[in-house]
Amino acid sequence: MEGYDVVVIGAGNGGLMAAATLVQKGLNVLLLERHNIPGGCATSFCRGRFEFEVALHQLSGMGTPEKAGPLRSLLDGIGVMDKLEFVPMSDLYRVTLPGKLDITLRPDWSEIISELQRHFPNEKEGIEKYFDLIRKYFTEVIGAFYLNDPETNREKYPLYFRYALKSTQEVLDQYFKDPLLKFVVSPYWSYMGLPPRLMSFNDMAAMIFGFCEFKPYHLRGGSQALSNAIADVIIARGGKIRFNCGAKKIIVEDGSIKGVVTEDGEEIPATCVISNASKVVTYVELIDHKHVPDAVFKELRQCSLSQSAFTLYIGLDCEPKEVGLTESTNFIFGGTDMDSAYERMKTIEIGDEDFVMLTCYDLIDPSFSPEGACQVALVTLKYGETWLSVPPAQYVREKYRIADSMLHVAEKVFPDLRKHIEEIEIATPLTHMRYLGHPRGAIYGFDHYVKDSTLFVPNQPHIKGLYSAGGWVGFNGFQPTLESGVKAAKALLRELRA
Ligand SMILES: Cc1cc2nc3c(=O)[nH]c(=O)nc-3n(C[C@H](O)[C@H](O)[C@H](O)COP(=O)(O)OP(=O)(O)OC[C@H]3O[C@@H](n4cnc5c(N)ncnc54)[C@H](O)[C@@H]3O)c2cc1C
Repeated sequence: MEGYDVVVIGAGNGGLMAAATLVQKGLNVLLLERHNIPGGCATSFCRGRFEFEVALHQLSGMGTPEKAGPLRSLLDGIGVMDKLEFVPMSDLYRVTLPGKLDITLRPDWSEIISELQRHFPNEKEGIEKYFDLIRKYFTEVIGAFYLNDPETNREKYPLYFRYALKSTQEVLDQYFKDPLLKFVVSPYWSYMGLPPRLMSFNDMAAMIFGFCEFKPYHLRGGSQALSNAIADVIIARGGKIRFNCGAKKIIVEDGSIKGVVTEDGEEIPATCVISNASKVVTYVELIDHKHVPDAVFKELRQCSLSQSAFTLYIGLDCEPKEVGLTESTNFIFGGTDMDSAYERMKTIEIGDEDFVMLTCYDLIDPSFSPEGACQVALVTLKYGETWLSVPPAQYVREKYRIADSMLHVAEKVFPDLRKHIEEIEIATPLTHMRYLGHPRGAIYGFDHYVKDSTLFVPNQPHIKGLYSAGGWVGFNGFQPTLESGVKAAKALLRELRA
């Protein structure tokens, strides 16, 4: 039986980057993926004449060659940059409250400030100070946390110490009076899943800082192009990838990793494992409980699962402008009460008061869809629990009923959308559960309350030789999960060298 230095379980962003980093260092690596393509969320699928992007709406951390963001450097490091083309997006987002408010912000500090000051002249000073705080706060976070300054103290990093444990809402209340303004500056809470009251200010600052400093990007060919490029370098450097091959068991003996058993029952010896499967699956399903330290179950019991998504992938038979699409990233809200919007994520229904994100890729990359056509993705967040209680016989009917409600929300801003639909595919939380293997189809890993901020959650191995990569061990999103793969690989290399 062929043995490996490392078996990586799952070819999502985290697993792919971990495998690519390890083969580059000369390790003998096998990557196991249950699906038939690499990428996890970072994939595409075809319907009719459209190739639909599954997940990537806005990519953070790229920057330009002159001012490289952390992700550009990482992708450069594994040798995939020359295979990919990244296109900067001109809008940060358009946020609408149909009939009441419609504001578009550009990914540039001074443009954001002046546009907001134009709409909210009574809050000029607060607007200036809030974005100044984000810039200065996150610069301190980079020094203290990401660059791991050994002299991190209150005097050197005053903002870090003052704001790292605050909720987004606390800071919004400190700087702004108008609830509409608080609402306009915070739709990115939907990228993390918790409303400003529950979301850490650190996480909000990270997103705004990242998109303003390094701009949001689109990837030509979609996220599948990235996943394929990373898979190609793994194979070119001697790594092996097996698709349609899930891991059923991680073998542990005397507290150390001994290998993996596939779903076909094949036993593969290995010194280390990096799991890109969810932390729940890794410790509860893949490893015999007697080998799992109590601390792991204690930690898991303190966590709650994040939302999944309800998504419509739509191919339109027209150019974006024919349905009034002018910006690539659109947040459509039914009201400004984010707590109620969040509570409704625990139900199956989508109503006028709910929010929907609408992305049109063709506005950034006109070659994204066939000529004369374009595609949009409509996404909202939903906890998977309620979808699990839908009787199987009613599933398809429910799926189409909710899709219809979601289209109604989008039609408030784009009234002609429906009549141009040529193709449509619907993904419910159960779809995400099936394709990713994550409990309840959770797409953001665990809920990220202030107490769970990445600043405070160490990703330490609980079992010798076992590491985790991906959205269950920190931030979600493309940049963080790709970074997490490199981090896991580096930690493993340190252990092997020790
Ligand atoms: C609808 C949607 C929109 C999004 N929009 C954005 C966006 O605009 N910007 C952004 O930055 N992020 C976005 N994200 C989030 C981002 O896509 C994810 O955070 C990221 O892709 C997750 O990567 P991961 O490494 O955690 O792996 P995952 O994508 O979760 O993949 C895990 C992989 O492991 C495999 N696997 C699981 N169990 C096993 C097993 N036992 N054996 C073998 N294989 C296994 C699965 O098949 C899967 O391929 C979005 C996500 C979704 C769903």
